[in-house]
Amino acid sequence: MMKKAVVCGAGGFIGGHLVAKLKREGYWVRGVDIKEHEFRTLEADEFRLLDLRSPENCWEALSMGGEVPDEVYQLAADMGGMGFIHTAECDIMHNSALINVHMIDVAAKLGVPRYFFSSSACVYPDMKPGDPMMTEDQAIPANPDNEYGWEKLYAERMAQAYGRHYPIEIRVARFQNCYGPYGTWRGGREKAPAAICRKVAMAEPGGVVEVWGDGKAVRGFTYVDDLVDGIYLLTQSDLQKSANIGADEYVTVNDLVQTVIDVSGKDVRIEHVDGPVGVLARNFSKARMNELGWEARISLREGIEQTYPWIAEQVRESYGA
Ligand code: NAD
Repeated sequence: MMKKAVVCGAGGFIGGHLVAKLKREGYWVRGVDIKEHEFRTLEADEFRLLDLRSPENCWEALSMGGEVPDEVYQLAADMGGMGFIHTAECDIMHNSALINVHMIDVAAKLGVPRYFFSSSACVYPDMKPGDPMMTEDQAIPANPDNEYGWEKLYAERMAQAYGRHYPIEIRVARFQNCYGPYGTWRGGREKAPAAICRKVAMAEPGGVVEVWGDGKAVRGFTYVDDLVDGIYLLTQSDLQKSANIGADEYVTVNDLVQTVIDVSGKDVRIEHVDGPVGVLARNFSKARMNELGWEARISLREGIEQTYPWIAEQVRESYGA
């Protein structure tokens, strides 16, 4: 029998890639989102436009006549990069919390056997460059740097609580920064790799690329194909605890920008300007995912070689740059 999956947030960046992955794995897939995908034709067997902040719409998203989906992947969130996270705190806490509160309740009560929740590395406290690696358990005692992280932590705990009281297997991944083609690249919700690709693509020859802060913050960037492989493997596994999914390659923001400039082949230089930077450093253990046989395979350079041309093309189509 073909397994059935529902991907909530299928109209978004990672959700769109996850639908494609599940189709490759032979699933029947229903995508759900409040909007259509902006950049690709979804490969889902069915797509429902629903606002998942209401319990009625969560029921509609998961109901299949007399059947229930074998797996639910909950990626819908009011979401953006560092600029958005710091300005839209109320929207994030209100909208994403409502989606998560209702979705897990409906999934558990409908009898969905397996539920994946997309959490974030933002649940962790800030780190300094050179600090030892943090394990998943070190998210507690909690002190996330932003409200987005607090909402994710609450949603994780809520899903785990349902897992203790209902026959539903909960899988939780904490994603590091993810990037790749078919993601938001302008408008204020884009994340750093997409924003940098756009700025480099739009820069005049001999011009500058503005970078928020001093560019010394340390980050891991995970290519989307690696991430969706990790989501799938984790969801099939027996691992009930939250697991970090991210690349082991850590770079400074300046390194990221230089990689994009190198891939573009353009003659542009970095200029640092004021702007929200977020935490100083990230360095997480991937031991739980490694034990399942997963590790990121795509280097930052290889991932940017896939991502930059797509964003440069979007820029050309939109601005003729
Ligand atoms: P995205 O914004 O591209 O996708 C999220 C989707 O959720 C969007 O398509 C949006 O329309 C949908 N959505 C928002 N409100 C909704 C509502 N009320 N009803 C139905 N759908 C709604 O973001 P993404 O980068 O694909 O992220 C997917 C998930 O992964 C999110 O939960 C995000 O918090 C998490 N995450 C992403 C990253 C990253 O680097 N991209 C890092 C950590 C965690």
